[in-house]
Amino acid sequence: MNPWTCSNPSSCSSSNWNPVALNSKINIPASSPFTATRGARRIVDEVYEVCNRKWRGIGELPLSGLRLRSQYSGFDAEKVFGLESSGVEEDSECISAQVLMGQKKPTDCPAFGNRCTPERPLGAPMVSTEGACAAYHQYKQHLIQVAQ
Ligand code: SF4
Repeated sequence: MNPWTCSNPSSCSSSNWNPVALNSKINIPASSPFTATRGARRIVDEVYEVCNRKWRGIGELPLSGLRLRSQYSGFDAEKVFGLESSGVEEDSECISAQVLMGQKKPTDCPAFGNRCTPERPLGAPMVSTEGACAAYHQYKQHLIQVAQ
């Protein structure tokens, strides 16, 4: 079978299916995913440098973030809009730092599901659907079933 007409590699015989030959015909290096990753990393390294970063609920962690290199500072919203010293205060009731570090579960928080909900979040983990507290809130009926 011609590799150009074989739409399902698993159904083609190994003697006829040659992805390297196919790649050479369409001019994609055999290692293109890795080449692309290296290329992307080179661009990220050119544009960004490692820096200390504040993480909501946890605080500043050394060398945990990226910032634009000085030659790209014209694109840096923190500098352009004077936001470098801005921060967000966590609600005193919120235990998100412990949740984010895996020391406590969202259900250990006294505000979970009552004073803190996805509609009225007190902390970052309840804001977006992938946040731990929001996920626990969405699937809390399963927690009750497991406990019974
Ligand atoms: S339930 Fe709300 S208040 Fe409690 S840790 Fe999660 S985000 Fe913070």
